[in-house]
Amino acid sequence: MANKRDYYQILGVNRSASESEIKTNYRKLAMKFHPDRNPGDKIAEEKFKEAAEAYEVLRDPQKRSIYDQYGHQGLEGTGFSGFGGFEDIFSSFGDIFEDFFGFSTGRRTRSSRVQKGADLRYDMRLNFMEAAFGKESEIDVEKMEICSECNGSACKPGTHPENCRQCNGTGQVSRTQGFFTVRTTCPHCRGRGQSIPHPCSRCRGNGKVRTSKKVIVKIPGGVDSGSRIRRTGEGEPGAHGGPPGDLYVFIFVEPHEFFQRNDTDIVCQIPISFVQAALGDKIPVPTLNGEKILDIPKGTQPGDLFRFHGEGIPSLRNKGARGDQIVQVAIKTPTSLTKKQESLLREFAKLEEGKLTNKLKNMFSRGSGGMRAAR
Ligand SMILES: [Zn+2]
Ligand SMILES: [Zn+2]
Repeated sequence: MANKRDYYQILGVNRSASESEIKTNYRKLAMKFHPDRNPGDKIAEEKFKEAAEAYEVLRDPQKRSIYDQYGHQGLEGTGFSGFGGFEDIFSSFGDIFEDFFGFSTGRRTRSSRVQKGADLRYDMRLNFMEAAFGKESEIDVEKMEICSECNGSACKPGTHPENCRQCNGTGQVSRTQGFFTVRTTCPHCRGRGQSIPHPCSRCRGNGKVRTSKKVIVKIPGGVDSGSRIRRTGEGEPGAHGGPPGDLYVFIFVEPHEFFQRNDTDIVCQIPISFVQAALGDKIPVPTLNGEKILDIPKGTQPGDLFRFHGEGIPSLRNKGARGDQIVQVAIKTPTSLTKKQESLLREFAKLEEGKLTNKLKNMFSRGSGGMRAAR
């Protein structure tokens, strides 16, 4: 460590500076280069560590006098080697940060670093038409928010947290069991090292309050059950200055009584009479955009499919594109006939008889198809 900087220079004080002067200047530097304010900044990190080391020496009269007489080498001779990492710094000087950062950042462990807030899930039901054409929806999202009264410090405005008396601010208590000393999390402060003598009345010392926030969500046309819409930054707030999480809106589409969906195509069944099937007809069919006329050709068979191009669901992947509407015809056999209809049908049957019976005879003589006699 040949080119270590002078500790007085680092803290910007002269060699005769008082203890409180040294402390004040260290605080300023610690605030400026605090890792919460400079996430990921290596230079700030170095400066933060450097200032902590300088302060560690100059605040201690014994170390300071060794340093004054023998410099960095003199301290090395005593086994002093500065700090290993942030944890050491925070556990040594935690109280320095309290007044500035409030409760939560004074004494930290690795797990209390800048953290992104949790993501939230909101389930939204849409009817078929809303899913097809999209909608803008205002939803109420229940989430935690930084308390506006105490700005998240959990302390009544004007008051500060105190070091926990039970653990002296270390967050841990030692207990002797036989020959062993066991260190456990302090039960009084639950490891935080601090207690709040005057909790904020709005958040009851929590730093956060549960609120219901209105969020506007734009649902694009074409979503389906299982689609997720993300609203960035509408999740839970982050910890220690971290960004908030995201809100995910999960879509569930209710079934439609007439239309079924197959990706971007919609499928429907239209009943027609056997007369319409045989003679052909033009029939009105509901589509997503109102009624359309379907031209049924002569000799339409049960299950025949017809297609309206571009009358389906808008595509999420292909802007401007839409699927088709597929119409399947179901041919209905009449169940109640008037006398006249019946006699006409019998007439018709006589004319058909030749064709029909010949076909059936062929079918039975081949003995195929596993056909059984009806009882
Ligand atoms: Zn404690
Ligand atoms: Zn509060």
